[in-house]
Amino acid sequence: MSLSDIFTGLLPGTDAEPESPDAPRGANVDGPTTVVYECRNCGTTVDPKTSRCPHCDHDEIVEYPID
Ligand SMILES: [Zn+2]
Repeated sequence: MSLSDIFTGLLPGTDAEPESPDAPRGANVDGPTTVVYECRNCGTTVDPKTSRCPHCDHDEIVEYPID
């Protein structure tokens, strides 16, 4: 017999707590700002990690944050 067994017996129901309704798990309430990356030359939307336009080979990529 261990101490934890005694405490569990003294406090019934502690392992059956109802989930809190105002604490949703996995919900991204205020997520990060979406940023769109576009080629400055031709306006093609490119990947965030792209530093060169795959369409016209221009190397100036501009960022447009979207709220
Ligand atoms: Zn381009």
